[in-house]
Amino acid sequence: MAGAVGSRSCKKIRGAQIRELLEAKANVLFDCDGVIWDGEKAIPGAPEVVSLLKQQGKRVFFVTNNCTRPRELYMQKFSRLGFTGVEQEEIFSSAYCSAVYLKEFASLQGRVYVIGGDGVQKELKEAGVPFVEGEVDVPGQTISDCPLESDVKAVLVGYDEKLNFLKLAKACCYLRDAECLFVSTDPDPWHPVRGGRITPGSGSLTAAVETASNRKAIVVGKPSKFMFECIASQFDVDPAQSVMVGDRLETDIVFGSNCGLSTMLTLTGVSTFEEAQAYMERDTPETQSMVPDYVVDSITDILLALKE
Ligand SMILES: [Mg+2]
Repeated sequence: MAGAVGSRSCKKIRGAQIRELLEAKANVLFDCDGVIWDGEKAIPGAPEVVSLLKQQGKRVFFVTNNCTRPRELYMQKFSRLGFTGVEQEEIFSSAYCSAVYLKEFASLQGRVYVIGGDGVQKELKEAGVPFVEGEVDVPGQTISDCPLESDVKAVLVGYDEKLNFLKLAKACCYLRDAECLFVSTDPDPWHPVRGGRITPGSGSLTAAVETASNRKAIVVGKPSKFMFECIASQFDVDPAQSVMVGDRLETDIVFGSNCGLSTMLTLTGVSTFEEAQAYMERDTPETQSMVPDYVVDSITDILLALKE
């Protein structure tokens, strides 16, 4: 039942309530797409909110399942969209965290076979994680006559606009070795694109490999707790002192709930207030983790609250 003891509240807040919440927190974690920007446009007020929070001595982190660009290009995007003072080490993308996972946590002895674009490949390179590079499509080649590398010890699957059938088949062949790790950048099923269209996300590509290989991927991105562990391994962050601001209930809000953070849904992206309320009314342990503590219409509300 809505409002049951211990359940999350899904409360729309503004003004002083936002200010009080933020005053009680030392760390603010922002998702990016649908929260601080929409494509190539900053959500109004987002750059000022980031600057103001930092001026108040808060630590700000950007936690995104979008693995299409390396952090270096995120830095360019932040500055292009008018954000100032953002540091590369504050950006935790699923591509960067996947590289950290493979390097620091999996102690990989061998190369990675990658389904994924530039973002993933550049972060692996930066972290010094060896992977199979420079594959060229040979016309007419099939899975029965293409070469496979003997030192592949992990398959990493992320968003890949150049995915083809042969790559998919190779990934599945490598995973027949039970010792070969299977890692997915993030579980996002799809992403909105212009004109009301959508594109399949990393989660959809991972699902294809999971089905064909009969294996389950280790998921790095939200809602897995790993991205918070990744932040906590580099910064002193107390979950009770932290709030996660996101636009997607199934990833951002569950991530915040899983990691013991306060959670705030902003309505400028994927999920709606009605969806959040519907999860609250169902009131099962699974749906409760998708119910945000707080809801705002937009990050603009945070700016107004901070300036009041
Ligand atoms: Mg988002």
